[in-house]
Amino acid sequence: MKYLSEIYRLVISLSFVFVASGPVCASDSVSVAGQSLFSKDKHIEYIVGSSSVIISAPHGGRLVPASIPDRKNGVLLADGGTDRLARDIAQAFHRQTGKYPHVIICHLKRLKVDCNREIKEAAQGSVEAERAWTEFHQYIEQARRAVIEKHGGGLYIDLHGHGHPEIRLELGYLLSNLELKGEDGKVEELRGKSSIRKLADDSKASFAELLRGDSSFGALMKERGFPAVPSPEFPHAGEEKYFNGGYNTRRYGSRDGGKISGFQVECPGKGVRNSKKNRRIFAKAFADAVTVYLKIHAAVGVGK
Ligand SMILES: [Zn+2]
Repeated sequence: MKYLSEIYRLVISLSFVFVASGPVCASDSVSVAGQSLFSKDKHIEYIVGSSSVIISAPHGGRLVPASIPDRKNGVLLADGGTDRLARDIAQAFHRQTGKYPHVIICHLKRLKVDCNREIKEAAQGSVEAERAWTEFHQYIEQARRAVIEKHGGGLYIDLHGHGHPEIRLELGYLLSNLELKGEDGKVEELRGKSSIRKLADDSKASFAELLRGDSSFGALMKERGFPAVPSPEFPHAGEEKYFNGGYNTRRYGSRDGGKISGFQVECPGKGVRNSKKNRRIFAKAFADAVTVYLKIHAAVGVGK
């Protein structure tokens, strides 16, 4: 039996080599956790996961092919280092849990395509940019199907970088800063508007606790050396700038129902994205915080 399973594994890995040349649908894919699938032109990468966690990095790409015209309007600034950071998190997560998160990375620079906007603003008429955008989202959908099939539900994180002066993480749950300024009792009424609605339904914690209490993701990151808003320390962003979640968080979180909750993470440059060493330290803390957060709030944890 052992011999047969070895042969089976060999066939699987050989098949992978031959099928990994284009965006692969769930029906014809052979998933090998930890390995990368690429779209045909290599603009989009999908590191296949085995856990209940999905991470996407839409703004860290560095490729600027001349065949795609520069975007003319919208936000054009890249989130430097978030492509590498997503990969570092995947490796740290694997070292800690023995499982991989599903990771989707756009390697095109944001000047060419914005995978955190609807397609019109994202691609601005370029067929090639539209194709990359479509492949990015197809891979996320593929990861979502795999997570639901294997684990019944999961967590989606859209990874970004901000340039605001405050050196802290900004966690976006689709609630505005004004809404976060409300008392806990008032905040409790907002669970249905948030991108972690499903997780709030499953967790024993109150919604305010899940959002900014001692077991919130913000608190867990602060404990590991990375202050965050919202958290017990910063229940809201005060009068400072704050990103509360974009297109991907709306599309892939659980605000409109669904089994996968999600939030946006905006990382500062200083101390997180600005060196290889800082990225590694952050990745370790982040992977650990995700694991603890899911252990506390989700029955399935990081996966079966
Ligand atoms: Zn971004």
